[in-house]
Amino acid sequence: MMAAEKLARSSKPLLATGFRIRRFNAALETDGPVSATLLATCLEKVLGVESVIATDMGFERVLQKGLQAADVKHSRVIGLPADSELSRRVFTNFVEEESPDLSVAIERPAANKLNVYHNAVGEDVSSLHAPLDKLLEWLRWNKVPLVAFGDGGNEVGMGLVMDAVQKHVEYGGVCRCGCGGGIASNTGCDVLVVSSFSDLGVYGTMALMQESMLDLAIDKLGDVMKVLVDAGCVDARKGLGYLGVDGLSLEGIKSIVHLLRSVSRSDAQLL
Ligand SMILES: [Zn+2]
Repeated sequence: MMAAEKLARSSKPLLATGFRIRRFNAALETDGPVSATLLATCLEKVLGVESVIATDMGFERVLQKGLQAADVKHSRVIGLPADSELSRRVFTNFVEEESPDLSVAIERPAANKLNVYHNAVGEDVSSLHAPLDKLLEWLRWNKVPLVAFGDGGNEVGMGLVMDAVQKHVEYGGVCRCGCGGGIASNTGCDVLVVSSFSDLGVYGTMALMQESMLDLAIDKLGDVMKVLVDAGCVDARKGLGYLGVDGLSLEGIKSIVHLLRSVSRSDAQLL
């Protein structure tokens, strides 16, 4: 509910997403880009709020295609390089020009306490990712709140529950890359939403905002996912070309969003 309130109040949200998968040629996984695109779509078309999606440099076009598939006209995408100094410069210029008032991280990798980024199987993926975790943390120090959606413990925001990740998540405390720090994220947030995969937390949050957002999300979900998968996004479990997220098919995800819409329509007490 706090995530929904913060999103509903924002007039300049920055959506950070994109987790690259080493074993699939370092392509972006579908979890993150799909819901970030749909969230930007709903914010623009339902609330009239333009967002900027931040991702790794080289993948701007992928996300732009997703926005085009949803017929989004004004929200846009920026790409950040993996080099930390260059990334910081691009990002500070962007912040000076745009002054975002809310950061939203959706399935975005974060470094552990030793500054090493890991995937879910404990491997080092630092060289693949821009340091958006650090940049969002810097924004947070500058009073821009951060809402984060994660699922595995190695994402932006999950630093809030670092002890639990180290204790209960595989490779949470001990990774396989040799750094000795485990995969547990060192980046906290103001509001953390944890779900079985990150996109579902975004849809749940949208259900708490406006019912018409889920109508639109259901309408656009198939087109957006198809375009993103055609552009190279990959389901982390099923691999290239599969229309789904973390092994759950497009139809399965649609069913969950339908269910969320039914709950939001009913008089059920959600809190
Ligand atoms: Zn490590």
